[in-house]
Amino acid sequence: MVKVHKITASPYAANAYLVEAERPVLVDVGIDPDFALNAIKRVIDPNSLEYIILTHCHYDHTAGTAQLAEQTNASVAIHQCDADLLDDIHATASSLFGACPPSIKPDMLLQGEEILDLGDLTLKVIHTPGHTLGGICLHGEDIQRTSSLRLLFSGDTIFSNGGIGRTDLPGGDPTALMNSIKLLTTLDIDAIYPGHGEAVYKNVNIHIEKSLKFAELNMLNK
Ligand SMILES: [Zn+2]
Ligand SMILES: [Zn+2]
Repeated sequence: MVKVHKITASPYAANAYLVEAERPVLVDVGIDPDFALNAIKRVIDPNSLEYIILTHCHYDHTAGTAQLAEQTNASVAIHQCDADLLDDIHATASSLFGACPPSIKPDMLLQGEEILDLGDLTLKVIHTPGHTLGGICLHGEDIQRTSSLRLLFSGDTIFSNGGIGRTDLPGGDPTALMNSIKLLTTLDIDAIYPGHGEAVYKNVNIHIEKSLKFAELNMLNK
């Protein structure tokens, strides 16, 4: 059965998720690659990590990527629009952390709609711009369970309790974010794994509807 392990260095850090499927993947990395590697080692052989999928280009999600990719041989995937911004100190929000942009060489450029086959799980890439130009969510279906479990890795597009990603950084767009969240309301989802804060396992649709309402207000206030 597919298991999801949350990897968070501190309550303020971005969440990374180790998805323990037949072919394991990591969704985002965080800032500290050693912390992520140690967490991965407790669950799987790091050499078996297939992909590191970045939900978007922001420093707090991506800074550890280059080192971790080297240590695990995983392929790095990110949406094309955010891949183009990986050297930009403002678009990656690196300036907010007083840091240089993360130097990442992606192996795989995503457009949206790709389906990654992880053996007992498929992950569909959904382009959800609004927080950044090339932000993505990943919609996972665990195909071996009798009642299939549907997961959403939501990056900084939505959080629990109606939270939404900020739209005031370069590439942010309140209307695009609202439309992206509207798209998420059309999906069947049993659990949400957001880029910050707690995962959601109950009343998932209520959480997403709250995020949509908040995004509509956010759009009207701009
Ligand atoms: Zn972000
Ligand atoms: Zn974030």
